Amino acid sequence: MERGALPQAGPSGVKQYWQDARPARPDRFGHVTVIGAGIVGLATAAALSRSGRTVTVLDAAPAVGTQTSFGNGCQLSYGYVAPLAQPGLIPELPHLLLSRHAPLRIVPRASPAQWRWMLQFLAACRAARASAGSLRLLQLGQASRTETERWLADADHGRLGFARAGKLVVLPTAESLRKAQAQMELQAAYGPPQEVVPEAACLRIEPALRRFAGHMAGAIHTPSECVIDSHALCQDLERQLRARGVAFRLGTPVRDFVRHGGRVTHLRTDAGTLPVDGVVLACGPASAAMARRLGFPLPIQPLKGYSITLRVRDTGADTAPRVSVTDAARKVVYARIGDRLRVAGMAEIGATGRHVDPARIQELVAHTRAAFGDAVDYQDVEPWAGLRPATPDSVPIIGASPCPNVFLNVGHGALGLTLAFGSAQRLAEHLDAA
Ligand SMILES: Cc1cc2nc3c(=O)[nH]c(=O)nc-3n(C[C@H](O)[C@H](O)[C@H](O)COP(=O)(O)OP(=O)(O)OC[C@H]3O[C@@H](n4cnc5c(N)ncnc54)[C@H](O)[C@@H]3O)c2cc1C
Repeated sequence: MERGALPQAGPSGVKQYWQDARPARPDRFGHVTVIGAGIVGLATAAALSRSGRTVTVLDAAPAVGTQTSFGNGCQLSYGYVAPLAQPGLIPELPHLLLSRHAPLRIVPRASPAQWRWMLQFLAACRAARASAGSLRLLQLGQASRTETERWLADADHGRLGFARAGKLVVLPTAESLRKAQAQMELQAAYGPPQEVVPEAACLRIEPALRRFAGHMAGAIHTPSECVIDSHALCQDLERQLRARGVAFRLGTPVRDFVRHGGRVTHLRTDAGTLPVDGVVLACGPASAAMARRLGFPLPIQPLKGYSITLRVRDTGADTAPRVSVTDAARKVVYARIGDRLRVAGMAEIGATGRHVDPARIQELVAHTRAAFGDAVDYQDVEPWAGLRPATPDSVPIIGASPCPNVFLNVGHGALGLTLAFGSAQRLAEHLDAA
């Protein structure tokens, strides 16, 4: 198949994704309970159902995709996957600790888990670790593209806000362009085609970037990257999974686990004590607290970020971007979802709670104005904050846990939307082999 092309839809009435679904399997983990109905938990439920397992999805919230998977940056960024931990961050640490307005900020807490995580993060900043992390993310990203596109082959792209928009990472200085080019060369062996484009070519690809003229050294262009509305995708997954017989227990927080001989036998929930066979933790930023209840640590810290969603004023004009844009100078991403523009940014390591800081929203509004002027309607700004579930090296944790019947699909950080379907498939294969 041509790289980047969507696979053909299956025969009518059969979703392409389910075409090679296996018959029910009465093995040890014939029934699996997935805790978490964010994008990762829902994709996991799909992969497990396809592999012949009976699946129940449980979530504390009354609806799917209401937490980190709700208002994220919407980018399916399969080919540009640099981990947050990079050698260049070490000299910036004093500034990140002291500044309240830096796009990347460290919020110190009296938490041994946070300080342990910070030490692991610093170790992950070594050049060799950062390169190895990039390659692992890239491989998972390519697997995820295949699986996501099987799901999307016969989906309603309009309703999901799906577009193969391409992506431009706009670099302000020659030094930032040189570093981005080095990352691109590292990714070349595994990732999709990417190229460095000078300013004039960048403006041809995305005329809405005209305000960047004279302020950029160039850009990295990845034509095959995509965008999708993460919340709409969660709802689509729920619909399809219910139709396939997957059971949902929403509004059902898991409070604790009952164990017998090391195995989890029941979940204590607000709806009573529920028996389980196999369990998958896919609780996003809450996964570390859940693991602590099971007696083992998970190196996951919340990385708070913000987004705003604005309506595009004139959808026919070339004033709002159609291509996904990363403004590397301000560390803000822009994604066009139909007639809306999603603007996302900021990473506050260790910030807890999802309250929306109005100052952060004003910063995003100011960045959008500087970048695209009046292309969007500032009277109608939808603000949002979410917690990325981050591991020190940005690589998610997929597979076994110290409890023999509990499995992990956690820690997707800034790339959970991109990596969800690939991670889910990897976990289903792990269970097949367990
Ligand atoms: C500002 C921002 C921008 C981002 N942009 C992008 C992007 O452009 N591309 C990309 O790929 N990724 C992006 N991400 C990252 C992505 O959103 C996350 O990695 C992803 O949503 C994580 O999904 P999840 O399912 O693991 O977690 P969540 O969506 O948080 O889901 C976890 C679920 O577990 C449930 N839960 C927790 N505890 C319990 C309990 N005790 N009992 C029952 N249920 C429980 C929660 O209610 C929740 O529904 C961004 C994130 C942020 C914050």
